[in-house]
Amino acid sequence: MKTYDEVVDFHGHSCPGLALGYRVALRVLKEWGKPAADEEIVAIVENNSCAVDAVQVMTGCTFGKGNLIFRDYGKQVYTFIKRPSGRGIRITVDWKKPDETSQEKAMWDRYIKGERSARVVNFVHKRRSGRIRHILEADEKEIMSVTRGKEKLPDDAGVYKSIRCESCGEKMMEPRARIRNGRIVCIPCFEEK
Ligand SMILES: [Zn+2]
Ligand SMILES: [Zn+2]
Repeated sequence: MKTYDEVVDFHGHSCPGLALGYRVALRVLKEWGKPAADEEIVAIVENNSCAVDAVQVMTGCTFGKGNLIFRDYGKQVYTFIKRPSGRGIRITVDWKKPDETSQEKAMWDRYIKGERSARVVNFVHKRRSGRIRHILEADEKEIMSVTRGKEKLPDDAGVYKSIRCESCGEKMMEPRARIRNGRIVCIPCFEEK
């Protein structure tokens, strides 16, 4: 199993989002044992934050393999489904940030307003590492809720016919095609003003 430091290496920095994703992935691995070798676990992520990097590294569910599915709901929800059984775990992250003193709030305010004095920068670093530590050490119940059940497996990332955009001439997967003024076009050409 990957350590948090290895996840940080992949992601490029340590941050609260990554730490949350790490905890989510740990939770799944704790239950299911080992990362997916070849698509035995499918992950559906409902955001594209730092957390997803941790999920990819830890669980082996990646964009390229097609067993990481992004649904752009802007929610801290992660569903993992086992293939072929459809047995699933749905994890909702609900992390309550630690309370801050009014002095801490004032420091943060100064940072937001653009102050980069040594004192303010130092405070911000400490604040971030404190939060990361909090997430990594927190009791599971403090940061997430978990439900289990049968989940609907997403359609296989099937092999689609590729067709050519009648505007730019580039190829695209058939289900991504759009019609614009009666011509078959790709999404960028469709959305072009
Ligand atoms: Zn990050
Ligand atoms: Zn096009």
